[in-house]
Amino acid sequence: MSSVDVELVKCACPDCVCVVSVAKAVSKDGKAFCCDECAEGHKDHAGCHHAGCECHG
Ligand SMILES: [Zn+2]
Ligand SMILES: [Zn+2]
Ligand SMILES: [Zn+2]
Repeated sequence: MSSVDVELVKCACPDCVCVVSVAKAVSKDGKAFCCDECAEGHKDHAGCHHAGCECHG
């Protein structure tokens, strides 16, 4: 039996495919994001730096 207490959530950015642990997520407006870029809504059109993720606002 393994106890997994790391809860995973998908980034709240609609285009982002990343999944982050709640503990490491960037929370903003009650939503969990994988990174600052996503949390800021990609206002600078900077992409999420994760492999395979194409979100950039
Ligand atoms: Zn991402
Ligand atoms: Zn994201
Ligand atoms: Zn994003």
